[in-house]
Amino acid sequence: MHIKFCSSCGARVALKAPDGDTRERSVCIECGVVHYQNPKIVVGCVPERDGKILLCKRAIEPRYGFWTAPAGFMELGEDIAEGAARETLEEACAEVRIGRLFASVDVIYAGQLHLFFTARLLGDYAPGDESLEVRLFDVPEIPWDEMAFSSNSFALKKFIEDAGRDNGVHRRVISDKRSTRAAGSGLPGK
Ligand code: ZN
Repeated sequence: MHIKFCSSCGARVALKAPDGDTRERSVCIECGVVHYQNPKIVVGCVPERDGKILLCKRAIEPRYGFWTAPAGFMELGEDIAEGAARETLEEACAEVRIGRLFASVDVIYAGQLHLFFTARLLGDYAPGDESLEVRLFDVPEIPWDEMAFSSNSFALKKFIEDAGRDNGVHRRVISDKRSTRAAGSGLPGK
């Protein structure tokens, strides 16, 4: 995940801990700029109408041909709910009314945090550029074996279990591709 060149001046970067820092960072050997790398935020939603859930079949890698809830990287200048609505418009050509945040998944091996909202599907839908197909699924039809990402599967399961109730934000931590665990309280000493 480390960069090789400085995006400010183009010189090489070296891995070292800047003064007063305990972690190694990519530091430019010429201009000294520290290139901090932090997790990226992925925002998405589970669009629902009449008990059916809208999913998209991916037309892009990774996981080409697998199903996903509309989700993608947050852009600068938007909040997480706006990002989830924008991704739904891009991937499913669908307008949604974003509801509440209900799932948060730390995907540590990928350096990402995935956040999911409930959403109400408002109008028509169609495949966007990044989707092969978009369709509404009854819950028993959901293709669990063909879901693109385990964060998505986790969010979908919790959405179905909640059945419209507000059970707070469900958390999950995925440390590597094979290991997943329930999230702790996040409090020191717990
Ligand atoms: Zn530089």
